[in-house]
Amino acid sequence: MILRMSKMYAPTLKEDPSDAELASHRLLLRAGMMRKNGAGLYTFLPLGMRVLNKVEAIVNGEMDAIGAQQILMPFVQPADLWRESGRWDDYGPELARLNDRHGVEYCLGPTHEELITSLVRNELRSYKELPVSLYQTQVKFRDEIRPRFGLMRGREFLMKDAYSFHATQESLQETYDDMSGAYARICDRLGLVWRPVEADSGQIGGKVTTEFMALAEYGEAEIVYCECGYAADSEAGECKCTATMYEREAMEKISTPGIHTIEELAGFLNIPESSCMKALSGKDPEGNITVFFVPGDHELNDIKANRVVDGFELLTDEEMIEAGLSKGSMGPVGLPEGVRVIADWNLQGISQWVVGANEDGYHYAGARLGEDFKVDGWADLCQVKPGDACPTCGKTLLGARGIEVSQVFQLGTKYSESMNATFMDEDGTEKPFIMGCYGVGVSRSMAAIVEQRHDDAGIMWPAPVAPAHVCVVPLAHGDELVEPAARKIAEELEALGLEVAIDDRNERAGVKFADADLIGWPLQIVVGKRGLAQGKVELKLRRTGEKRDFDLEGLADTLSSAAKNAIAGAIDPFDALFED
Ligand code: ATP
Ligand code: MG
Repeated sequence: MILRMSKMYAPTLKEDPSDAELASHRLLLRAGMMRKNGAGLYTFLPLGMRVLNKVEAIVNGEMDAIGAQQILMPFVQPADLWRESGRWDDYGPELARLNDRHGVEYCLGPTHEELITSLVRNELRSYKELPVSLYQTQVKFRDEIRPRFGLMRGREFLMKDAYSFHATQESLQETYDDMSGAYARICDRLGLVWRPVEADSGQIGGKVTTEFMALAEYGEAEIVYCECGYAADSEAGECKCTATMYEREAMEKISTPGIHTIEELAGFLNIPESSCMKALSGKDPEGNITVFFVPGDHELNDIKANRVVDGFELLTDEEMIEAGLSKGSMGPVGLPEGVRVIADWNLQGISQWVVGANEDGYHYAGARLGEDFKVDGWADLCQVKPGDACPTCGKTLLGARGIEVSQVFQLGTKYSESMNATFMDEDGTEKPFIMGCYGVGVSRSMAAIVEQRHDDAGIMWPAPVAPAHVCVVPLAHGDELVEPAARKIAEELEALGLEVAIDDRNERAGVKFADADLIGWPLQIVVGKRGLAQGKVELKLRRTGEKRDFDLEGLADTLSSAAKNAIAGAIDPFDALFED
């Protein structure tokens, strides 16, 4: 079917929408691919829907290819299942909760571990039936604190989520590797420039996990990576950094009037920030207080703090006063009774510290570890950043930004144990399933593609997800030669198996050119009176902007091998037409 632009609901916008900061957000709106309906809520219009469907088909195809089976679970999930896993309380305000007319509680599915575990616990009984991988592609809802950047961080968004069930860790590892391979192929087939990174498992649980990051200047995620191949999400990566020592004969109490920040302190003493120790106080849900110390040039990483103190929350100013802590000059020397001191492992080799004196307007220099103060425990606490040392090879880490398009997790028995989902193993005993889960952001991937492939004029879709491969652009509306010639070209190209659009609107040439660039068809074929008179049409390659005249006669033959490549899934199948 040829897409006739005169009939399509594809309203393009000349102006940039005022609240759209990112290119993907701006261009998907301007190109008439989607419209906003509320914070983090979008309608996909026909052209955007075509793209979304293609992304989904690629994702589903790769799932089918590794033997995962498609299902569809309800979007609305019973609260009781979430109580069983413990996540009804743990998930927090991102989980949208509702009651039905009988007062029974439900939530809008942000992910489906609970639901699928409850499904299989009644169905899969024996090790002989394992492993099993099931997937769905479905709308999710997360009441994100800051929905923004269009499809990048929506509240309602499309995700492909898969879950696998195993009798052994080896079997989980095999499926995890298969899924990782499929996710890599998905990124490749979507034309993304990407890299896998070590990650944190967040709300989902489990320890072994990898994120697939589309590299993008304005991606929300920070990545550190090394020449040796190591790469990590900076919220998860191990931090090896070099704290420095400011040596003193003995501990000195220094008057530091008005000095509260590390920057001020380092400036006042004329020493590097990495020689000052940053202190952060917080409590666990029982109210036990911990003070964390990290090198002054680094930040405490929340996730890591929570690993040491489950439920860690920073103290408010009032709570600090109540606990006898001095904001702006906290230190490990002479802390109130019962306060635990945990320090970053990079400080272990620093025998003299520059720290607050627990008295406003005073600091200590040369405070001796083990003599003047004690540390109750050491841990990896800092947010890693470029310039730190690679935890694998020790070289200097580099930085990049990325968009997390997908993530794979080894869950282990977190859900099967809490939800009592067991099978009969070979030895005749009941065991909890060993599980994995795997998610692709289908709608977010669409935005990631646009982030990587656009210019000022619009989108440059990779052919496998473009709303159509080619747009034929007749320039003289109603012209008795141009219109039939354009229609004939469209039909011939369609017969080659290409997906074809024709801009048969009664619009000026300039409007058609601008819209074709904005929408981002990979190839444009411009049919005009003057060219036709010489038996020529003009082909324009969207990605490079290159234009060339081709003979109308035999055009289908000229395009036939590019068409074959397009059908086979080549990212830029028309480039070859413009070579040499
Ligand atoms: P993020 O860290 O970006 O909030 P997440 O790690 O919480 O994402 P997962 O639970 O791993 O997300 O979900 C699987 C995939 O779903 C993500 O890799 C991402 O592509 C997509 N996704 C998650 N949250 C959103 C959202 N708010 N809008 C669009 N896509 C999302
Ligand atoms: Mg994730």
